[in-house]
Amino acid sequence: MLIRKSQLELVAPGSDILYKIPSKYDFSLHEDTTELFANLMFERMRELGGMGLAANQVGINTQFFTMGVDILRMDIFNPKILDVEGEAITEEGCLTYPGIFLQLKRPLTIHVEFSNVKNETINTRLTGLTARIFLHEYDHLNGITFKEKVSVLKWSLANKKLKNVREKLKKEIRQKYIVDTYKEMANASIDTGGV
Ligand SMILES: [Zn+2]
Repeated sequence: MLIRKSQLELVAPGSDILYKIPSKYDFSLHEDTTELFANLMFERMRELGGMGLAANQVGINTQFFTMGVDILRMDIFNPKILDVEGEAITEEGCLTYPGIFLQLKRPLTIHVEFSNVKNETINTRLTGLTARIFLHEYDHLNGITFKEKVSVLKWSLANKKLKNVREKLKKEIRQKYIVDTYKEMANASIDTGGV
């Protein structure tokens, strides 16, 4: 098991590992390193600015994901979804596809079972954003990214939107550069004006 955070790099979109079902996490093989691994994954997720990160997203073939915001945190090993209820449409993003946001319909409430970092079985209900993140990461552990949840058309529109945002940003940066340069030149000519 990898235990250096620097090795937890996001794999490129389209990488094979994102489309395979990872192996079950075997606690007996990692007795001393499970907590460290979970901590590093959580830290990495926060550095990347996400609310969830699955092991296969950073190239590790195991059934694990971490999720949370600030001190609220859940480390999920070998998850199962036992039941789902309701429906909600919410915009979501994915660290594998930075800047792309998709409106997705998913269950509102889920009944799940998983092992926590101490290898205790947790059986609980999750709802709202917590359920949403769990479902997104659970998909990763089933070899599905959110790209596969939408039509080709919807995906290309989301990409186009991102391209437009990037273009706008580029234009703004260029504009700012022109204004700054102009100011500098104006100042320079004032400076030399009296000579
Ligand atoms: Zn994702």
